[in-house]
Amino acid sequence: QIQRALRSLGIPLDRLHIMKGHMIQDMCKGLSRETHAQAKVRMLPTYICSTPNGTEKGNFLVVELCQNQVRTLLVTLYGDGNMSPQMMYKIFDMPEGIMQGEGEALFDFIAQCVSQFLAETTSPETSSSEERLPLGFVFPFTCRQTQLDKAELLSWSKGFSCSGVVGKDVVQMLQSAINKQEVGSNGSGGQWLSPWRGWKSSPGQLSHVDVVALMNDTVGTMMTCCMEGRPCEIAMVADKGSNCCFMAEAYLVEMAEETSGRMCVNTEWGCFGDDGTLNDIFTPYDESVDEESSNPGEKRFEKMVGTLYLGEIVRHALIGLTAEKAIFAGTDITVLKEKGVFTIQHILDIINNEEGTSDVKRVLEVLGLQASERDCGRVQQICRAVVGRAATLHAVGLAAILSYMCQTRDMETLMVNVGVDGELFKGYSRFEEILQSVSRLLSPECMATFLPSKDGSGRGAAMVTAVALRLAAQRRVVNEVLGPLRLTRADLEKVQALMRQEMERGLGKHTNATASVRMLPTYVSHTPDGTERGDFLALDLGGTNFRVLVVRVTEDGISMASEIYVIPVAIMQGTGEALFDHIIDCIVDFQRKQNLMTQTLPLGFTFSFPCQQVGLDKALLLTWTKGFTASGCVGQDVVQLLREAAHRKQHSGLQVVALLNDTVGTMMSCGYDDPKCEIGLIVGTGTNACYMEEMKNVGTVEGDEGRMCINMEWGAFGDNGCLDHLFTHFDRVVDETTINPGKQRFEKLISGMYLGEIVRQILLVMTEKQLLFQGRASAKLQTRNIFQTKFLSTIELSNGLALRHIRAILNELELEASFEDSVVMREVCQAVSLRAAQLCAAGLAAVVEKMRENRGLEQLSVSVGVDGTLYKLHPRFSQNLQKTLKDLAPNCDVSFHLSEDGSGKGAALVAAVASRTARAGQ
Ligand code: ADP
Ligand code: MG
Repeated sequence: QIQRALRSLGIPLDRLHIMKGHMIQDMCKGLSRETHAQAKVRMLPTYICSTPNGTEKGNFLVVELCQNQVRTLLVTLYGDGNMSPQMMYKIFDMPEGIMQGEGEALFDFIAQCVSQFLAETTSPETSSSEERLPLGFVFPFTCRQTQLDKAELLSWSKGFSCSGVVGKDVVQMLQSAINKQEVGSNGSGGQWLSPWRGWKSSPGQLSHVDVVALMNDTVGTMMTCCMEGRPCEIAMVADKGSNCCFMAEAYLVEMAEETSGRMCVNTEWGCFGDDGTLNDIFTPYDESVDEESSNPGEKRFEKMVGTLYLGEIVRHALIGLTAEKAIFAGTDITVLKEKGVFTIQHILDIINNEEGTSDVKRVLEVLGLQASERDCGRVQQICRAVVGRAATLHAVGLAAILSYMCQTRDMETLMVNVGVDGELFKGYSRFEEILQSVSRLLSPECMATFLPSKDGSGRGAAMVTAVALRLAAQRRVVNEVLGPLRLTRADLEKVQALMRQEMERGLGKHTNATASVRMLPTYVSHTPDGTERGDFLALDLGGTNFRVLVVRVTEDGISMASEIYVIPVAIMQGTGEALFDHIIDCIVDFQRKQNLMTQTLPLGFTFSFPCQQVGLDKALLLTWTKGFTASGCVGQDVVQLLREAAHRKQHSGLQVVALLNDTVGTMMSCGYDDPKCEIGLIVGTGTNACYMEEMKNVGTVEGDEGRMCINMEWGAFGDNGCLDHLFTHFDRVVDETTINPGKQRFEKLISGMYLGEIVRQILLVMTEKQLLFQGRASAKLQTRNIFQTKFLSTIELSNGLALRHIRAILNELELEASFEDSVVMREVCQAVSLRAAQLCAAGLAAVVEKMRENRGLEQLSVSVGVDGTLYKLHPRFSQNLQKTLKDLAPNCDVSFHLSEDGSGKGAALVAAVASRTARAGQ
């Protein structure tokens, strides 16, 4: 029988694995908004989103409501890594009956304790000083928290049952009691001072005490264990009851609004199993304990692991075994019939002695039980089994949390510190060992280090309070820094209006010379209609690579082949002749490889440098950019330069029909599939746009009939100072360090070449303001252009899942970043990329509104062909752009199409459209 009893108290490993799985399922259920209401494991949000980082400083008051006691504590932190906090405390015994009395009386008593404590600990100067004294309130009952300082009591437990508190905000109740206390001490409040022993006649002033945080004792323990810059992200309290909390990814805590960073979740795992999942491991002893409890069927897990119940389990086991005559034969065991006679202390006394049974005998004798040597051994075995099982079950719960954290952080392995406190942990010598070995077995991917909590939860509560204040202060500074980057709707409307104004000026014959938006005519007057056919050659110069292509436009669509050629720096920066000779060499090489030597194909030339175009095949280079400086080209007709080179190289089969900008190519290539595509947009290294304008509005080209594509060169918008009001300190620094200061000011707010650099400047300022990296910027971070724009994409994509990638970036930058640093970094990236997308939208809004007005339409329906890696790969840029555009130009229905190889395909299509319209014109 003994063996059977012991076996029923042991749980096989496969069963533990299943339990762990159930626990994870229940945790997910508790976290999800849909299932939270039914969930047994409540997973309550605590609104604690940060652990201490050691910079906290100041005075913090804590009041902790415990069984029969109120503990008060004053902690002074010095911002020294919390190595040596100064602490003063006082414990007050709770008067008879208050735990079951009126709620108001309970909170008045707590306020009295605070008042008395302050009177004794603080000097008159400090207590009357202007400085606010923040208070953290440790309230170890189940609450529905909606803010750090807002918590509605769901139910009392642990012998408390004060009236008028359930459903109320307990923070508010404490604050009111404190405020009332102050009024009382000024005048008529004397009646509160007398009833309890030891009150001083003049209580401390409470007018400067603010209750800023409420937390559970588990959370307090976690924070207490966060010491010396070593984060502790799980805490377990194995005491009369049992509970655990941990830092979860905030976006998974659906009951709280917070979506970035992490939040501590109070699991309330004592109720695990209340839906029957633990039924098959309950022993008859567990059932008896449950039936005799004040809340049968509830807190089934807690009743197997809480020290309030372990003695009861042993008692029922002994009763059962006696009935089966397996123990205490011929002994009177009536004493065991009484509930609660067998306590955790008895158990600990019995099991903690490894040698012999004399201690066991003595304990049993004190209880009034006559035990034989054999009985003593068996009682010891039962006690060990019950306590061992409790430790094992704690380990199962912990393993579930460990694996869950590891999974949701997308890590292969997790190393984490676990704060532990409670009677069972402290009293049972093998508890930690079992916790360690069983959790390792169940979650081998995780490595937990256990930190015993030295000062209970009080100091942690002070930390929470301190962290809350630190975060509030940090938030203010972050907002100050990022504020100038945050644009209002009015700001964007103004940008839109200015863009419109600059567009008009750029189009005007007489204003063009001084406009910052050049509005260059392209001599492309038709978009494709899908009937274009033929084979074309295309050149693409001015993008990331130089390419030669052959493009085949057939009824079945467009196919192409291309070759990338290198342009050596010596040629880029040599003579124009050498450059164009090289281009011809590349074309010849390509034609050989493609077997195109015998044909004369029309050629479209995508030339992405600013040009003054005077015909479709005649374009004067205005200036080189992007590292090109070939001599003798500026002011020359680029097409002519190419033709001359062909002549020099005796290449007669070349028929250059069009030169175009990459924006135009982008528009054209999308236009082949969508006739509504009349806008081209690039957001890559730089940014630019083109659109179809009415000829009658183009003052710089003769003729009023039809339309022409205008290459806006909008990157230079603002170069005349019209956007100066928008530029932040960061924008000015970035501009000053470029090779073209004062130029391309709009582009420098938007495109890939600059966003990373803007972010880097902000990070530097934030570090200086101690908001990041503990105030230390790495040498790497001080290097220009080290922060690439693609980092923004990675950082903004992460919602905790891709945190690993952020880590990789930070490592690359040699930055020691805390988790919170990465959260702040993400906010910075978001602010910068959002502004870029919004500004781009404001520019586009000016374009589409002008097109709508041009055509006298109530509603314009138009498509934009887009190219550029920033637009394509950034996780939010396109969404933000489209959303803002909709907002700014509600009468335009704009759809966006990604262009595939606009430069190649577009060049061919411009050539094709040119030959089609030329044919039509003949
Ligand atoms: P180009 O404009 O020269 O034709 P791209 O359109 O490919 O070239 O754009 C290149 C720019 O895109 C680079 O300046 C870089 O900053 C940016 N970029 C590259 N990868 C990403 C990414 N994953 N997310 C956002 N921007 C990126
Ligand atoms: Mg490009």
